[in-house]
Amino acid sequence: MSRGSNLERVGTFNQAVILDIVRRSDSGVSRVELVQATGLSTQTVSNIVRKLLDLGLINETGKVSGGTGKPRTVLNIDPNSRYAVGIHLDPSVMTFVLLDLSGTVVARSHVSVQAVADPERTIQKMATAMSGLIEEAEVPRERVLGVGIAAPGPIDLQRGVVVGPPLLTGWDRVELRESLGAATGFPVFLDKDSTAATHAELWISENPSAQNFAFIYLGTGLGAGLVADGAVVRGSSNNVGEIGHIATGPGGAKCSCGRNGCVGVSIMPVHLVREAVARGVIDGSFDDADLQGIAARFRQLADQADRGDTRAARILDGAAARLARAVEDVANLMDADRIVFGGPSWSPVSKRYLGILRSALATRLAVGSIHQVELVGSVLGEDIAAIGAGCLVLDHVLSPRPGGLLLEKQSGSAAAAH
Ligand SMILES: [Zn+2]
Repeated sequence: MSRGSNLERVGTFNQAVILDIVRRSDSGVSRVELVQATGLSTQTVSNIVRKLLDLGLINETGKVSGGTGKPRTVLNIDPNSRYAVGIHLDPSVMTFVLLDLSGTVVARSHVSVQAVADPERTIQKMATAMSGLIEEAEVPRERVLGVGIAAPGPIDLQRGVVVGPPLLTGWDRVELRESLGAATGFPVFLDKDSTAATHAELWISENPSAQNFAFIYLGTGLGAGLVADGAVVRGSSNNVGEIGHIATGPGGAKCSCGRNGCVGVSIMPVHLVREAVARGVIDGSFDDADLQGIAARFRQLADQADRGDTRAARILDGAAARLARAVEDVANLMDADRIVFGGPSWSPVSKRYLGILRSALATRLAVGSIHQVELVGSVLGEDIAAIGAGCLVLDHVLSPRPGGLLLEKQSGSAAAAH
C-alpha cells in the first residue's frame, strides 16, 4: 500500500454520511435503519454498505430481531481498521495520542519540550516519539491514516506554518506541516490548538449538526473555538477565536498590548503563580521561563484553595470572575447554547471556576430569558488538543463535512503528492 492511499477519502458524500451514522451509533445500526435515517434508497444504502465492508471500515456484528420480519444484520464501525495520530505542541510538553477509528485513545505519551529554540530537533523528536507510540500499540503503520498537529496560534494554515507563537522561542515561521510530513512520511494536518480542541468536542457531541457552542481553551494562553450550526467556524485565515485581549474591568495584570486586565494575561497560570509567590501564598522563588514548574505550582495553588486556604482561593476566584466577563461577551456575541471549557490549565481549577462562572452568568446573559446557556467542563481531559488533532485526520476521512479538507496544502504537499 502506498503511503497516500491510506488517506483516501471514503468517497462520496453519501458514503461519509452513512459511515458517520454507523460511527455515532452505540449499539450498531441495520441497513433498514440507515435507509430511514438518510432517505437514500435501499439499493444505494446496500451498495455503500458493501463498499464500506470491503474497505474494512465497518463490520457485521450479529443479528437482532425487530418485531415482525426477518432479523436484521447490525453494522458497526471496526475501530481497529484505521488509526490516526494526534500531536499537541505546547511550549512545555508535547502530547501524543493514537486514536482508533472510533476516536478512542488507544495509546498516549508525553515528551517534555526543552529544546524549544530548535524546531528542527523538536520535529525529529516528534517523529521518533510518534513511531514509538505506534510500535508500542502494535498497530501496523499502514493502518495509520495520518498525523494531526495542534499548535499555539497564530498559524498560517495555507502554508502549514507556525507563526512565532508566544512562549515558543525560535519558532518564527516554521514550516511545521512540511517538515513533519518529511520526517514521518505521513500526511500532516495542522490546526490551532483551540480549534483542534473544538473539533474533538464536536466529534463526541450528540446531534452534531444542531450544535452552537464556544469552546474556551485554557492552555499556556487563552483561546476560543466556535461552532455554529454544527460547523467549526474558521475565519478568513483560520485564526478565529483570539479572545485574549477582551477587557475584564479595572485592575488586573499588565498585558503585552499595553492595557491592564485583558482576560488572557489575567487568568494565565504564569501571572497567578507570580502573584501567589509575591504574596507568600506559595513558597519559593519565581522563574517565568520554567513553564513546567509554573504548571506544577499552579496545581499546588489550586490544591491549597480546595483545602481551604482563603488567600489562594481569593487569587483564583478573582481570575474566574474575570474569565466570566469575557465568557459573557462570547456567549452573547454568538448566541451559544453551551460554553465548554477545557485544556491543561483548566483541569486543576475546573470545579472552582465552574461554580463561579455559573453563578456569575446566571442572570447576566442577554439570551438568558430565551434559552439556557449550559456551562460545562469537557470530558476529554488535558489531552484534548492532541485528541482534536487526531480527530482532524479522522474527520477528513469520515465526516460528511470535513473541516480537514481545508487543511491540506493546496499543491505539492506531502498529502497531495502521494
Ligand atoms: Zn491585551
